Amino acid sequence: MLHKTKTSFITILKTTSNKKLSLKRHDKPKRLNRALTSSSSQIWKSRLSWRIAAAVFMTILLVQTMIMNFGTVPTFRQRLLDDLKETNSTAIAAMIDPSAGYNEAPFTSEQAARFMAISNVKGMSIYSYQNEPIAAYGAAPSIKKEHMTVRGHSKYTPDIGLYEIVLNAADLKRPYYIAVKIDADSVQEQIAYFITDTIKIMLIMSLFVTTVLMIALGHWLLEPMLFMRSNLLAAFKAPEEPDIPKSPFDNRDEIGSAIELTQKLIHQNAENLTRIKSAAEDKIHKLAYYDTLTGLPNRTLFVQTLNEQARQKQDGSAERFAVVTIDLDHFKDINDSMGHNIGDAILRSVARRLRSAMPESAVVSKSGEDEYVIMMPLSTEISSSRAVAEKVWHVIRSEPFKVFNESFQVRASIGVATFPDDAIDPDQVLKNADIALNRAKEEGRDTIKEYSEDFDRAVQARFQMLRNLRDAMEHNQLELYYQPQIDLHSGEIIGAEALLRWFKPNNSKEGGTFISPADFIPVAEQSGLIVPIGEWVMLTACKTAKNWKDEHGIDIRIAINVSAHQFSQSDICAFTQKTISEVGIDAHKVELEVTESVFMDDISHTIQTLQNLHAIGVELAIDDFGTGYSSLSYLRQFPIDRLKIDQSFIRNALNDQDDASIARTIIALGHALNLKVIAEGVETIDHEAFLIKEGCDEVQGFRYSRPVPAKDFLHFAKNYKNDLKPVD
Ligand code: C2E
Ligand code: MG
Ligand code: MG
Repeated sequence: MLHKTKTSFITILKTTSNKKLSLKRHDKPKRLNRALTSSSSQIWKSRLSWRIAAAVFMTILLVQTMIMNFGTVPTFRQRLLDDLKETNSTAIAAMIDPSAGYNEAPFTSEQAARFMAISNVKGMSIYSYQNEPIAAYGAAPSIKKEHMTVRGHSKYTPDIGLYEIVLNAADLKRPYYIAVKIDADSVQEQIAYFITDTIKIMLIMSLFVTTVLMIALGHWLLEPMLFMRSNLLAAFKAPEEPDIPKSPFDNRDEIGSAIELTQKLIHQNAENLTRIKSAAEDKIHKLAYYDTLTGLPNRTLFVQTLNEQARQKQDGSAERFAVVTIDLDHFKDINDSMGHNIGDAILRSVARRLRSAMPESAVVSKSGEDEYVIMMPLSTEISSSRAVAEKVWHVIRSEPFKVFNESFQVRASIGVATFPDDAIDPDQVLKNADIALNRAKEEGRDTIKEYSEDFDRAVQARFQMLRNLRDAMEHNQLELYYQPQIDLHSGEIIGAEALLRWFKPNNSKEGGTFISPADFIPVAEQSGLIVPIGEWVMLTACKTAKNWKDEHGIDIRIAINVSAHQFSQSDICAFTQKTISEVGIDAHKVELEVTESVFMDDISHTIQTLQNLHAIGVELAIDDFGTGYSSLSYLRQFPIDRLKIDQSFIRNALNDQDDASIARTIIALGHALNLKVIAEGVETIDHEAFLIKEGCDEVQGFRYSRPVPAKDFLHFAKNYKNDLKPVD
C-alpha cells in the first residue's frame, strides 16, 4: 500500500518530465530559427556592435582627417598656389618688352593696368637685377626689399585671401625681380570644396566599412555570442531542464568550441541538479513520512494511508479495520536510567517485533517517541479489533527484549478503535483509539482499552470541568481546609495539612456543590493549571500558618501537597523560596508532600529539585507511600524527612493481615532510613492503637478532625485535649 503511494508519486513525476521532454523536442527547430532570426535582427540592437562600429567609424574618420590635414589639403593648396604662380608668371613674362633696358620698366603702366584688370593680380613692384625699384603698379606687395632676391620667396595670407610672390630672372627670362600681389580668394574656395568633397567620400567609405564590419561581426561574433547567451539564459531559467537547441556554429573556431563547452557544462549541471534533487526528494520523503529510528512510517504517513484505506472502503465494500494505538509503559524510566542508546535499541526491537508479527496487510507505524499505531484490515481470521490488540499485547509481553545482553520486560498500554463502527471519519477513528489509549494509561497501564462512547462523554466532562475550574480560580472559589497532624509520642498537634476545597456555586443553601480534589486535581495537572493553583495554595497556607503563630501562638508545621507536574512545569524552588521569605515563615515549618509519581519523571531533575528544596530548609514527605513506584535506592538518594503511609493500608490494617504488615514494614523501613513515619486515614482509636504499637511517629485522620476551614482549625487547636493513651 505504502509502496504503491510512492510508486504513483514517482510515476507522476516521470510522466510530467516526459511530457516536458517531448514538448521540448517538438519545439526545437522553431526555437532554433527564432534564436537565429532574433540574433540577426538583434545585431542592430546590440550595444556591443554599435560600440565597435562607432569605434571603427571614428578611427577611420580620424585617420582620414589626419591624412587630409597633414597631407592632402596642404598639397592641394600648394598645387593651387603653384598654378597661380605659374599662370601669372607666364602672363607677366609674356608682357615684358625684350627691348626695355634692365633698369627700365619692362612694360607700361597701361599694359600693367590692362593685365591687372583681366587677371587676379592686384599689384606689382618691379626691381632691377641690382634690387633697385624700377616701377610699381596697383596695390603694392608687402614683400620687403631684402626678400626680393631670395629664391622662390612667396607669402600666402589665407585670411585676407592674398598670395604674394617674387618672380625672378628664371621665371621671367629677363633680369628683373617682380613682386606680385595676387588675389587668392579662389584658393580658399577650392580648398573648401575639396574638403567638403573629401569628407563626403570619407563618410561614405566609413559607413560602408562599418556596415561590412557590423555584418561580419554579427555573423562571426555576435550571433554565436547571442546564441551562447540564450543558452545560458535558458539554463538560468530552468537549470534542471534547460531548453537548449543544438549549436549551428562550427565548433572548430574558438567561439564555436566555447559554445560547445558551455552546452556540455549546462547539460552536466542539469544532470547533477536532477540527481541531487531526486536524492533530496527521496530524503525529504523519508524524513517527512518515516521514523528515522525504526524506519517505520510515521504518524503523517499513517494518517494518509488510513484516509486512503477508508476512502476505498467507503465506496461500496464494507471492509472494516482496526486501529490500535500502543504506548510503552514507563519507557521514560528506561531511557533515564539506562541511557538513550538502550532506549533506542528497545524502540527498534519493538518495531521489528511488531512488524514481523503483523500480517503484510497491516500498517505498522511509529507515531511518537514511545508510541506505535497499527492499522489492520479485519478479516474472517481476525474479525475483531480486540483480537488484533490482544495479539499486539501478547507480542510485546511474550518475552523480554534483549539489548546488549540485558533483558528488558516491556509492558504497553493499548487503545483500540474500529472503522467504521466507532467513527466513519478515519481521523476520528484514530482519535478514538488515542482516547482509549489514554483510558488504558489512566487505569493503571499495561492493559487494553477498547473505545467506547462513554469515553467521549468522560472527555467532554473533563473539558467542562476544566472550564469550570478556570472560572473558579478567577472568582476565588477555591479554598483551603486544614487537617491536624498529631505526634503519637507526645499527643500534641504538631502540624496541619492544607487541602484544597472547591464548592462550585449552585445557588443552594450549602453554598455549592463539593467537587473532590481527587476529581479536579488531575484535570488541573493535565492542563497545567496546577501551577498557578499550587502557587496560590502555597502562599495561602504559609500565610495562614504564619498568622496562627503570630496571632495565636500556635506554632506548627504546615504540610502542602505538591503534584509531580509542578515539579516539571515550574521553578518550584524559586517560588518556595520567594514565598517563605515574603511571608516570613520558618522554612523548616513548611513541609512539601510529593507522591511517588515525581520519581517517574526526569530522575536527575527530580533529585536536583528535591535537593534544592531541602537546601532552602523545607521538609519533604512522600505522600500515599506504598501505592506507587518506589525503590529503596530512590529513597536513599532523596533528601526526604517523612514517609506518609497511604490511608488504604491503615483503613484495612485491622482486618487485613497483608495491609497490616505493609504498614508495619513501611514504619520499619522509614525508621531504618532515619525518616519519620506519619499515617493518614486514622479514623478510629483502634487504628491509633495499632500505629502506636507499631511505633509510628505521627498521625492524621478523622479520629482527630476532618479537614476544616482555617478558623475552625484554630477553634479545634485551642480546644484540643491531649487524651492520648500510649499502648504498651
Ligand atoms: P492526600 O494528600 O493524600 O490527602 C489526604 C486525603 O485523605 C484528603 O482527601 C483527606 O480529606 C482525606 N482524609 C484525611 N483523613 C481521612 C480519614 O480519616 N479517612 C478518610 N477516608 N479520608 C481521610 P482530599 O482532601 O479529598 O484530597 C484528596 C487528594 O487531593 C489529596 O490526597 C491530595 O493528593 C490532593 N490534594 C488536595 N489538596 C491538594 C493541593 O492543594 N495540591 C495538590 N497538588 N493536591 C492536593
Ligand atoms: Mg497529602
Ligand atoms: Mg495521602
